Amino acid sequence: MRAHAPVRSSTSQLPDNRQETQSQRLFIKTYGCQMNVYDSDRMSDALAPKGYETTAAPDTADLVILNTCHIREKAAEKVYSELGRLRVLKEARLKEGRPLTIGVAGCVAQAEGEEMLARAPVVDFVVGPQAYHRLPQLVERAHDGERPVETEFPAEDKFEHLPQADRKITLGRGPAAFLTIQEGCDKFCTFCVVPYTRGAEVSRPLTQLLAEARALVDAGVREITLLGQNVNAWHGDDGTGGTSSLGRLLFALAEIDGLERLRYTTSHPRDMHEDLFAAHRDLDKVMPYLHLPVQAGSDRVLKAMNRQHTAQEYFELIDRLREARPDIALSGDFIVGFPGETDADFDDTMELVRRVEYAQAYSFKYSQRPGTPAATHDEQVPEDVKTERLARLQALLNEQARAFNAAAVGRTMPVLLDRVGKREGQLAGRSPYLQAVHLDAPAHLRGQIVPVTIEAAHANSLSGRLAETTGVADTGEMKGDAA
Ligand code: SAM
Ligand code: SF4
Repeated sequence: MRAHAPVRSSTSQLPDNRQETQSQRLFIKTYGCQMNVYDSDRMSDALAPKGYETTAAPDTADLVILNTCHIREKAAEKVYSELGRLRVLKEARLKEGRPLTIGVAGCVAQAEGEEMLARAPVVDFVVGPQAYHRLPQLVERAHDGERPVETEFPAEDKFEHLPQADRKITLGRGPAAFLTIQEGCDKFCTFCVVPYTRGAEVSRPLTQLLAEARALVDAGVREITLLGQNVNAWHGDDGTGGTSSLGRLLFALAEIDGLERLRYTTSHPRDMHEDLFAAHRDLDKVMPYLHLPVQAGSDRVLKAMNRQHTAQEYFELIDRLREARPDIALSGDFIVGFPGETDADFDDTMELVRRVEYAQAYSFKYSQRPGTPAATHDEQVPEDVKTERLARLQALLNEQARAFNAAAVGRTMPVLLDRVGKREGQLAGRSPYLQAVHLDAPAHLRGQIVPVTIEAAHANSLSGRLAETTGVADTGEMKGDAA
């Protein structure tokens, strides 16, 4: 979850025609994945021209938006209990004569729609992910006493209507940025709500993406992570009447001077195309890290999940990736206790993990999502079995992650210093393999890629020191990069 850093205030016309800086405060609480983090930034960009300045303190806000996630259990309950807390704040603020407007966005908003207004009278508007460009009007309508609900999938392209953040705001968000290139999903895995909440797969056109990437880089961004529910299914209009592919998009982005690092997430094994392997093989700017969820190791379970590939096909992809980029670090998602999963099926998942050796991974207990086919399956796995399997799987994944991090000790690698560290005098950033790295470094290096010698590996991070080199590191990435 993340609250947003302050942005600018704006000038508005007062009744006596004096110009005075008048800002309203916006607090966005972001739940869930990186796509929601990107969406929250775009929502604050949409509201900035209306005078909204983001704040990290909900108590001081005039407008609170909950940007929700529906992927796993209790998502809606969490939102309703947050709304309960906000009701108290709203009542207190009303007494002070400073009204508070409350909106709910994201996938819970999309799923609940009108029902949300009935269940939570505190809510002033509800907006689904496809309608964020309409936020300024929705807020206005809420101020006029309406309680609008906007969960249709509008005909117009929201990205064409969402303003780009100005340079100062982009810079304030740091040197590593997200860029959503694709939304929605047509795959219909039997456990997943995404195709229902985010709708059908849509790819943004190539020219739009290159323009957004250039604007980010002009503002000082050095690393872009391309986002999509099925990012490698991206097949945007290539500007010549045809469609492009993620591999070709990476080649086009790699041409942008000043853009040093490219990542993408989340990928589906079915969409690992030829030019994507080529991008990993040929482009130093494509980081040696891939999140490629497999969910399970048993073909029977994969079939019941409608994943449309076998464990063997997944192994073949991993082999090809390692051939293209031998040092590639792999990450995955796993679900344990999918309906009908037996001990033998679960053993297949453990075996797959042992064989692949992940650098890090996410693992979840299966959770019944209303409206999805697996939710009504009559062989639901008991909770205690799921708990026990998850503990075993996580013990193995943690052991692999620890080994991966430990292998970094003694190496010198390029780190993009994207934030201040926890301690005074510390900066933190990411290795090419997406490991968090912290070190003592002067503040002016923030935003730069510097060689760091790794001295220690911790549970979820590395620590090190600035290397006494002139930019020579043990991946190709530092070529020409000043330390
Ligand atoms: N599109 C990606 C893919 O195909 O792997 C995943 C996107 S999904 C937003 C993120 C992860 O949430 C999934 O990979 C899956 O592991 C997990 N997930 C989704 N639905 C789930 C459910 N009903 N129960 C448990 N985990 C779930
Ligand atoms: Fe959900 Fe990913 Fe499957 Fe699409 S491919 S239904 S987003 S898990």
